[in-house]
Amino acid sequence: MSCTENYAGICPAALDYFQQANNSGHELAYGDDIWTQKVCDALRDLFQTDCEVFFVFNGTAANSLALSALCQSYHSVICHELAHIETDECGGPEFFSNGSKLLVGKGENGKLTPDTIEAIVTKRSDLHFPKPKVVSITQATEVGSVYSVEEIRAIAAIAKRRHLKLHMDGARFANAVASLNVHPSEITWRAGVDVLCFGGTKNGLPIGEAVVFFDTHLAEDFAYRVKQAGQLASKMRYLSAPWLGLLENNTWLSNAQHANAMAERLYLYLKELPQVRIMFPRQANAVFAELPLPVIKGLQAKGWRFHQFIGAGGCRFMCAWDTQEETVTRFAADIKQLSEAIEPV
Ligand SMILES: *Cc1c(COP(=O)(O)O)cnc(C)c1O
Repeated sequence: MSCTENYAGICPAALDYFQQANNSGHELAYGDDIWTQKVCDALRDLFQTDCEVFFVFNGTAANSLALSALCQSYHSVICHELAHIETDECGGPEFFSNGSKLLVGKGENGKLTPDTIEAIVTKRSDLHFPKPKVVSITQATEVGSVYSVEEIRAIAAIAKRRHLKLHMDGARFANAVASLNVHPSEITWRAGVDVLCFGGTKNGLPIGEAVVFFDTHLAEDFAYRVKQAGQLASKMRYLSAPWLGLLENNTWLSNAQHANAMAERLYLYLKELPQVRIMFPRQANAVFAELPLPVIKGLQAKGWRFHQFIGAGGCRFMCAWDTQEETVTRFAADIKQLSEAIEPV
């Protein structure tokens, strides 16, 4: 069980297209190749709408550049206090937008609520405070929960009323779609999302994320931002073509379904252990749990790698597209054995 999905390798379908793209000889550069065109069309087919698509190397760039396209330097972005853009992007969104401020709000299970957003928007309206311009939500969230269709619609409604754009950090978008069992359009443009950062890396790509503008006006000049930020791949086909492997046969969805199922399996084991406290609802591909410190140390000594957060005891166990049932079983058995060794039941 590793700390996060980026410990996993490339899924075979993506790797196959990487090689196919290489076998096609010389191709135009900077995204004018046939592979990139095919992937853009495939994404438009998937979402059943006319959208503008861009490929960048990572999620930090996708989020930072997408937000910078929505904001002037004097604007602000409303997000959850646990949002990746706030906690894990080294100020990238502020940097690329030349100073747009993030305004953080609280909310259970890592989710913003319409009330939180309303409170932030109405707190100040004078010109001494950066003007709210965007709401950013993460789907699935940083704590493994998922916004329902209704929750997104409600957030989009308040955003619309307050003239805010809606951005979605979809580093784990596939896991959210799999969890909700809805069409991807239902939790994006049909619900009011203007721009989606669609994560590929954590779903089985070698590298890369897609920035999908459903409001195509917002994509004007976006290519220049990508280039200026050093995110325009010269041999773009290697960034784009592997997406065809994910999109063909809905591999993106089956990868996510598998990862979610492995997390559910782990959850079912852990919830039976009295020494373990589950911290958030298991909805996507993660289980967050508080474990006694000796158990954490014991797991590390056995070579398990995972992320610890929120003070002492909070652990994050992520499942990837290739996590094996046998690994989950072995991991859960190790936790059980270590727990019983310190606190016999
Ligand atoms: C992983 C992740 C990203 C992207 O991170 P990079 O390391 O920049 O690719 C963005 N948002 C969330 C919620 C993530 O978990």
